[in-house]
Amino acid sequence: MPDINRLQPVPESTDDTKRPPGDGPDPDPMMPDTNRLQPVPESTDDTKRPPGDGPDPDPTMPDTKRWKWDDRERYESKLKSIEAGCNQYEQKLMGGIVNTTNISPNYSDIHINRTVIDQLERVTALALNRPDAFQYGVLRRNKVTGALLYGPPGTGKTLLARGLAKQSGFLMLEVTGADIFQKCWGEPEKYIKAAFTLARKLSPCILFIDEADGIFGARKSGDRKHQRGMLNQFLLEWDGMGSSMDSPFLLLSTNRPFDLDPAVLRRAPVHIHIDIPTVHQRQGILQLLLKHEDLGPDINLPILARLTPSYTGSDLKNLCVTAALACVETEVPDPVTGEYPSRRTLQRRHFNFALKSVRATTLNPKQLSQLDAFHRRAGG
Ligand code: ADP
Repeated sequence: MPDINRLQPVPESTDDTKRPPGDGPDPDPMMPDTNRLQPVPESTDDTKRPPGDGPDPDPTMPDTKRWKWDDRERYESKLKSIEAGCNQYEQKLMGGIVNTTNISPNYSDIHINRTVIDQLERVTALALNRPDAFQYGVLRRNKVTGALLYGPPGTGKTLLARGLAKQSGFLMLEVTGADIFQKCWGEPEKYIKAAFTLARKLSPCILFIDEADGIFGARKSGDRKHQRGMLNQFLLEWDGMGSSMDSPFLLLSTNRPFDLDPAVLRRAPVHIHIDIPTVHQRQGILQLLLKHEDLGPDINLPILARLTPSYTGSDLKNLCVTAALACVETEVPDPVTGEYPSRRTLQRRHFNFALKSVRATTLNPKQLSQLDAFHRRAGG
C-alpha cells in the first residue's frame, strides 16, 4: 500500500490511469515542502484550464428564457401553478426538478475539460434558445434534440448535467432509469409520457435521463414485453416532440453506452465522453474537494494525485471524506478548556489511512473494452 510519506512525483505519463499505485521512485529529500493547495499550472491546452473560469452566461440569450434562480418567489409560485395543472403521473415526477439553489455557479464544483462544457452548452442552448429557427426550411427536420454523456461511473456526468442547469438557467427535470422501473411499476409507459408532458410545461427545459441504459437498452428478442414497450413509448414521445417550440432537450447519461438501442443513439447524435481523470485532473479535483479544509504542511496534492491512478472523481471524494473522518476520530479535546479544536487539520497519516481503505472502482475488463470500442466507433 502506498505511503504518501515515501512517494514522490513520477513523470507525467499519458497512460497514468493504468499504472498501479505505489510505483514511484524513492523519496527525494530536495523536494519542496508540499504544503497546502498547489495551484494547477496554467496550460496552453485550453481543455486543462481550472474550473471556475468559464465564460459568463451567453449574453445574447434573452432574459425571459431563463429562470432567475435568485428570484425564489417567482420560481416557487411558477412551480406551484404548474403542479396544480399536473396529472398524478406528472406530480410524482415533480420531485425530479433539479433544485439549483445548492449548486455553485459557473461549474465551480466540477473539474472537467472546458471543451466538454462548451460543447454541452452550445448544443443545449441552440435547441432551447432558438426553437423558432427549427420551425421551417432545412432545419425543420434536423433539430438536434438530444445528447449523450457517457463514461465510467463516478466521473462527474451527473454533476456536470446539474452544473449545466445552474449555469444555463434552464429548468432541468431529472429522471433515472431505475425511477421509471421502481416508482412506475406496472405503468411505466404512463410515466414516460408524463416526463415529456411535464418537461414541456417547464419549457425551456432539459430532460435529463440518468442511467439511460435502464430505459434505452437495445431491443433483443429475449426482452420482456414491458421493457420493449418502455423503449418504444420513449421513442414515440421523443419523435412526437417534433420541432415544437416547447420541446425539451434530452440529455442522456450512461456508463453502458454500448447497451443503448441504435435508435436512441441516432436521436441523440452528440456523444460526449467523460473519462477517468488524468493525473492533472485528479489534482484539480482534489483541490476542489479540499478547498475548505486546512491541510498540514506534509500534504502534497500533486503526489496524492499521482498515488491515485484510475481513481474517479467519486473515488477521490470518498478518499477525502475517509481522511477527514480519520482526522476527526483522532482529535482530542484541549486538556484545559475541554474543547475540541475549532477546525481540523488533515495530515499525511489521515490520507495514508484513507488510501488503504478506498480503492479505485474500476470497471471489469469486459466493460472497459466495450466502452473503448464504443468510444472508437463514436469517433473519440
Ligand atoms: P457519474 O454521474 O458520472 O456517475 P457523479 O456526477 O454522480 O458521477 O459524481 C459523484 C461525485 O463524485 C460527485 O458528486 C463529486 O463529488 C465527485 N466528482 C466526480 N467527478 C468529479 C469532477 N470531475 N470534479 C469534481 N468532483 C467530481
